[in-house]
Amino acid sequence: MLPDIEKLFEVQVADREIRKLRDEIAALPKRVAEIEAKLAGHKASLEKARAAMKGDEVSRKKFETNILDQQGKISKYRDQSLAVKTNEQYRALMQEIQFAEQEIRINEDRILELMVNVEAREKDVKIAEAELKVETAAVEKEKAEARERTALDEKQLADWVEKRNASRSGVEANLLAHYERVLKFRGSGLAEVRDQKCMGCRVLLRPQTYNEIKSQTQVMTCESCQRILYFDPASETAADRPNEMGAHKKRARPKSDAAQAWFFRPDFGEDEVLMVYIHSGDTSSRRVYEMNTGRQIGDVLIREGNYRQAFPEDMTDSAIRLNGHWTEAQMEEWGLEVPTSALDLLQADLRAAHRDAARPGKSAHSAQTDTTTSRQR
Ligand SMILES: [Zn+2]
Repeated sequence: MLPDIEKLFEVQVADREIRKLRDEIAALPKRVAEIEAKLAGHKASLEKARAAMKGDEVSRKKFETNILDQQGKISKYRDQSLAVKTNEQYRALMQEIQFAEQEIRINEDRILELMVNVEAREKDVKIAEAELKVETAAVEKEKAEARERTALDEKQLADWVEKRNASRSGVEANLLAHYERVLKFRGSGLAEVRDQKCMGCRVLLRPQTYNEIKSQTQVMTCESCQRILYFDPASETAADRPNEMGAHKKRARPKSDAAQAWFFRPDFGEDEVLMVYIHSGDTSSRRVYEMNTGRQIGDVLIREGNYRQAFPEDMTDSAIRLNGHWTEAQMEEWGLEVPTSALDLLQADLRAAHRDAARPGKSAHSAQTDTTTSRQR
């Protein structure tokens, strides 16, 4: 392999790690904000409970003042009643006293109501305080963990940046610039050549280009996707010598009724993708991953029925069924990215499917035969 390509390989590994770490670090402020929003909710509940209690106290003082006022009026009227000259004046004063007594009763009732309420209010405050305490402890722990994780990520990021810079310094400047441009637009800057094809975009190379790459005398790029091409004799040998050791081992045929079904689609919007359908109970889920990086595209879709019924629009002629099965726990661990080990297996199976399709006596679309028949069922 050319030394520049070898260095670019190292750059590519570092680039992938750096991107993963940067995404993780960038996600932290959002996570902390979510955690704090949860805490803010509990703080607000406590404030509300305390405010209600304070409001009751203010009301109670007001009612007590009202009672004192009315009592003052009553004693004033009683004094006046001793000096009145007419029955009419006396009756008027008695009415005022009655009215004041009624006001006192109303205020006393209100105070009683508040006193009955006090117990419930105090309980609300205690519950809110206890909840806030528990939540605060949990949030602090969660935040500390998030910060620790980020510190670790940042340390690793610094290490990878250093490694990448070291590898980059060994690559010729124009080539490095080209690599970075393609990486920016396509997610990867390098592509292997196998079976005369660019594995980045699956386009067949011209024989002359192919031979030049195989001779490994100079760096070549794919005319179609611009990725820098490299040739690995080890992987080509296996694919190129089907008749060595007897007949070329036939590719296992994916089971059409499997609970998990992987597909390759070269035309999912702008992208080449891997899709996996998982049938469980009455529903099927669909995940889509970018072919070269293994990164998940969009959200998981869940619909009723098996995947052929649930996602009929996906079952196009260009879809190629692949072999592959991972347990739910394994896939859970992947998170939002198919790991390189799984990606390699799926890509190898796709190459085998292409090879099978290209063999004499086989129809070009043999990989889809089971798709078509199943759809007609
Ligand atoms: Zn290409």
